[in-house]
Amino acid sequence: MSLWWLLPALILVLVVSARYAWWKPSLPDHLPRVLMYHMISSQGTSKKHRGLRVDPVMFERQIAWLAGNGWEFVTLSTLTERGFSGGKQVAITFDDGYEDNMRNALPVLQKYDAKATLYLVVDRHDNDWSVKKKAHHNTGELAAEPKLSDRQVRQLIDSGVFELGGHTLTHCHLPSTPSDEKAQEIGACRQVLEETFETSVTSFAYPFGLFSAEDVNLVREAGFSNAVTTDEGIDGAGGSNTDPWRLRRIKVSGKDNFWAFKIRMRIGFRGYL
Ligand SMILES: [Zn+2]
Repeated sequence: MSLWWLLPALILVLVVSARYAWWKPSLPDHLPRVLMYHMISSQGTSKKHRGLRVDPVMFERQIAWLAGNGWEFVTLSTLTERGFSGGKQVAITFDDGYEDNMRNALPVLQKYDAKATLYLVVDRHDNDWSVKKKAHHNTGELAAEPKLSDRQVRQLIDSGVFELGGHTLTHCHLPSTPSDEKAQEIGACRQVLEETFETSVTSFAYPFGLFSAEDVNLVREAGFSNAVTTDEGIDGAGGSNTDPWRLRRIKVSGKDNFWAFKIRMRIGFRGYL
């Protein structure tokens, strides 16, 4: 019998297993999951920022699956009040303030009685923050992407689905911003959001997930009660402590299939390739 296919088959299994770490044991359900989304919109022709766009059909499939599998939807403020414990909880977060959050995410979240936290950039219109991290990211694509108007943000809050979180005034690159400006970017963003939308703002997201110990102190001094990063994972895994100022999130990528989403929910990330 010819076994020529055995080696290619073995390689395929190894590659798939590295890309999707399906074999890793699930983390316990009582460790809260914090999901990170940006845009809920269909992919255009551009190859850039594909991971940031989750298709609306896929988004509904994910939310329906969470609801159907007994996950309780909570906001970051609820999670913090509960001390990051208390059952099978998932916090949905959106960064930046894209208009499709209103058009495509809100109706789905309402349908499944879900909650979410929106990290809103104050100066978000015509602001190309992608270049603040890497100058060559100058396609202007994210700047051209429609952002939520103040009126729409009010609607999101009034729906009872969304709470607001801070994400600095301008989506600044904290590592290259002078200390006094950083204090303004972090402190004033909370003040402006609370005054403009007459709501309490208790959670903060570090722009680009970049921050130092100094920034953590500034966030604390500004009166926030917790902060999320872009570090992938599930806090409390392996008995580790949950640091409310450096909360991990599970990245939901627009490049993922549904199986990858379920793996991320189980172990905090998709795989190694
Ligand atoms: Zn952002």
